[in-house]
Amino acid sequence: MVGSVNIDEKISSVKFFVDEEYPHLRIKDEKVCLKCNEKPCLNFCPAGVYRLTEEGSILISYQACLECGSCRIGCPFENIIWSYPRGGFGVNYKFG
Ligand code: SF4
Ligand code: SF4
Repeated sequence: MVGSVNIDEKISSVKFFVDEEYPHLRIKDEKVCLKCNEKPCLNFCPAGVYRLTEEGSILISYQACLECGSCRIGCPFENIIWSYPRGGFGVNYKFG
């Protein structure tokens, strides 16, 4: 019998090497987000990187990115600039 997997536990077990000088995720044009009614980025990110501010703009906590790549295809307006973190930074699954 296969045991169940707790995703939150798995995510909390990974280690991050945060690059404080270079955010590898950015919004291209904040005005586009204001017009995006569904805002799927609030749902497709497994790490909850995208959050809505009271003003209606999108806040990105790139430090918690799991580098799954979903936001490369999930934004209907291709309004997210995505790259891998610079060498030596980003998520490390060795401890997960
Ligand atoms: S899905 Fe894309 S356009 Fe819509 S709010 Fe999120 S980042 Fe902005
Ligand atoms: S790559 Fe995955 S974990 Fe990182 S911000 Fe995009 S959806 Fe979230």
